[in-house]
Amino acid sequence: MKVHSFGVRDEPMSKHTSLHIGGPADYFVRVTTERDLVGAIAVAREHELPVLVLGGGTNMLVSDRGIRGVVLQNDWSETSVDGVTITASSGTPLASVAAVAARNGIVGLEWMATVPGTVGGAVHGNAGAFGSETKDVLSDATLMDLNGDTWTVSNAELGFEYRTSNLQKTPIVVVRARFRGQPGDRATAVRRIKEIANERIAKQPLAQPNTGSIFRNPPGDHAGRLIEAAGLKGATEGGAMVSTKHANFIVNVGDASAIDVKSLMERCQREVREKFGVELIPEVELVGEW
Ligand SMILES: Cc1cc2nc3c(=O)[nH]c(=O)nc-3n(C[C@H](O)[C@H](O)[C@H](O)COP(=O)(O)OP(=O)(O)OC[C@H]3O[C@@H](n4cnc5c(N)ncnc54)[C@H](O)[C@@H]3O)c2cc1C
Repeated sequence: MKVHSFGVRDEPMSKHTSLHIGGPADYFVRVTTERDLVGAIAVAREHELPVLVLGGGTNMLVSDRGIRGVVLQNDWSETSVDGVTITASSGTPLASVAAVAARNGIVGLEWMATVPGTVGGAVHGNAGAFGSETKDVLSDATLMDLNGDTWTVSNAELGFEYRTSNLQKTPIVVVRARFRGQPGDRATAVRRIKEIANERIAKQPLAQPNTGSIFRNPPGDHAGRLIEAAGLKGATEGGAMVSTKHANFIVNVGDASAIDVKSLMERCQREVREKFGVELIPEVELVGEW
C-alpha cells in the first residue's frame, strides 16, 4: 500500500474524541479486524510513521495542532465466552463486555457497562468504577509492538496501579484481553447495571462533551471535592468549564480548544496546590503536538 492511499489525510480529531476537541491527524485509518490492525501497523512501520491507537477517544485531550503520524481507530469488536471467561478484542466497547457477561449469567463485570471506551483503552489505563477496576478482572492480555511481534502477559506483568499500567507512555498495542467473572445469574447482573447507570446519570454531566474525570483522586480524598472547595465549580477558560454538576469534570460548553482545557486544568492544579498543598495528577492523557 502506498502511503498516499493510507487512510484519510488531515482528519480532524474533534470528530473522534468525547470532548469534541483536537486538531488533524496526518493519517487516520479505521480498523475493524485483527488483520486490518496488524496490516495498518505494518504500513506505518514501512513508512516510519508514528502510531497512536484510538479507542473510544474518551480519555484523551488532543492538541489543537493535532497528531503527527497515523491514528488507528480501533473498531475491531469481537467477543467469545468460555465458562466465566470472556475474551474480547481490543476495539470491543467495554459496555459490550458487560452485556455479554450479563447475557451469559456471569457477574462481577457490571461496572464495565457505564465506562465509555474500549477494552484496549481500559487495559492501557486500568479503567475502573464503582469499587472495581480492570486489574481485578483481567486474566491476561495479548500485546503487539510496532514490529508486529505479539506476546501474552499475565495481569501481574501489566504493572496495574490506580488508573495506570506499564503500557502508558509506550507504543505497545493491546490486541485482546481475557476477563474473568464469577458464576451468577442474568437478572442480578442486569439489575446491577441499571443501578449503576442511574447513579451515573444523577451525578455526572453526561449531556455535555467531557472526558470523564480530569484528575485522579489523590490518596484519601476526591479531586472533585478539592476543586469545588477551591471555588472553581463553574470556572471557565474560553469554551471550557469546570462542570457545575461534578467539579472533576471539564465540559466543552462552546467551541473549546485544547488550550482552553489545558489552561483550565492548570488553573485547577495551581489553586488546589496553593489552597490545600495537594498535587492533582491528570487522569486524561494529553496527546498530539503541543
Ligand atoms: C462520561 C465519561 C465517564 C467516564 N467514566 C470513567 C470511569 O468511571 N472510570 C474510568 O476508569 N474511566 C472513565 N472515563 C474515562 C474513559 O472512559 C476510560 O479511561 C477508558 O478506559 C478510555 O478508553 P478509550 O478506548 O476511549 O481510550 P482512548 O481515549 O481512545 O485512549 C486512551 C489511551 O489509551 C490508549 N489505547 C487505546 N486503545 C489502545 C490499545 N488497543 N492498545 C494500546 N493503547 C490503547 C490510547 O492510545 C491512549 O493513550 C470516563 C469517560 C467519560 C467520557
